[in-house]
Amino acid sequence: MKEIILIKNGELVLKGLNRNTFEDILIKNMRKSLKDLGEFTFTKSQSTIMIESAEDIDLDDAVDRLKRVFGIAALSRAAVAKKDMDDIMNVSREYLEDELSLAKTFKVEAKRSDKKFPLKSPEIARELGGFLLSKFNHLKVDVHNPDVTVTVEIRDNYAFIRGNNIRGAGGMPVGTSGRAAVLISGGIDSPVAAYMMAKRGVELVSVHFASPPYTTELAEEKVMELLHRVARYSGPITTYVVKFTEIQEQIRNNCPEEFFTIIMRRYMMRISEIIARHQNCSALITGESVGQVASQTMYALACTDAVCNMPVFRPCIGMDKNEIVILSRKIDTFDTSILPYEDCCTVFTPKHPKTRPQLAAVEEAESALDRDALIQRAVDSARKTVIK
Ligand code: ATP
Ligand code: MG
Repeated sequence: MKEIILIKNGELVLKGLNRNTFEDILIKNMRKSLKDLGEFTFTKSQSTIMIESAEDIDLDDAVDRLKRVFGIAALSRAAVAKKDMDDIMNVSREYLEDELSLAKTFKVEAKRSDKKFPLKSPEIARELGGFLLSKFNHLKVDVHNPDVTVTVEIRDNYAFIRGNNIRGAGGMPVGTSGRAAVLISGGIDSPVAAYMMAKRGVELVSVHFASPPYTTELAEEKVMELLHRVARYSGPITTYVVKFTEIQEQIRNNCPEEFFTIIMRRYMMRISEIIARHQNCSALITGESVGQVASQTMYALACTDAVCNMPVFRPCIGMDKNEIVILSRKIDTFDTSILPYEDCCTVFTPKHPKTRPQLAAVEEAESALDRDALIQRAVDSARKTVIK
């Protein structure tokens, strides 16, 4: 029996004339995610995209990967039958055997894009429904809230038969909303922030600040592992690891302790922005959330933003830690995030950070630093890798 995958676009449908471009990017992303499983062909038709393969590929793997591709509202596996009621009934019975055996109730929906097919949609539904009832004696029909909806689509060359839809990842195809650079730490929040922006179609670049020898190789590997997990949704992430040691030591030696974190954050933003522009990004992303720590009060965030000349997206900004944790478990980054390696932020943490810093005071506090030279050396230290 030949089996295919049917993809239902999400918000793409809203995009009018751009729809074609959006679908093309979605197909490109799906192709990439399935690449090493074998050869697939993609066919657009109406609001679905059909994926088929001439080879005998187990579709479990393919569906598993497609469930993480943004821009897909729902997907389903379908069996292909001849456009002939006998074949449709036999294929349905065989193909849906497991699903219908487990269900208590079902209904049949028929769609007929080939209007020359001899039966009308309600007649197809009635005939197939009656047949399935006779073969699966325990089933009852429930048209309002069935356990399984059997859908038959009569297309130009074939009939497609499918059971329940599988929910897709939603969002928009990565690459349809531009590029942004995420500041990634080893924590819980920034991988979630990265995932959330990728879900809105943003292609990711990432910047991580490491402070050897205060931070170790293991801490860096942890960040790479987090990015690897995010990349299962976002696609490849061009990543820069920036050496931050000198800047942190200079801040510690020359600035008032109460401003350590905020000054450090301002340097991270300045450096990330340079890398972001170099990588054609139009925004920065962080995992900050209002009030979570002293450097994330509204006043502290204003002091951070004062050095940024591109928009800073903070998708976790209004979320509770619990809500962020739920998402991090869902995308499978939580267990890695809680591994106990140090982050450069925790190396020189002030005992009494200012929670209501004034911009003028922060600017005064960092004035002793040789800003341009420090930034230049940090940018020069950046090592680039691509996380696949
Ligand atoms: P997270 O869980 O994302 O680490 P957090 O609650 O630990 O966040 P902070 O450590 O204050 O909060 O960091 C706030 C944000 O600053 C992070 O979400 C991240 O975007 C950025 N950031 C912090 N440390 C680093 C780092 N070492 N490299 C790059 N970005 C960082
Ligand atoms: Mg952190």
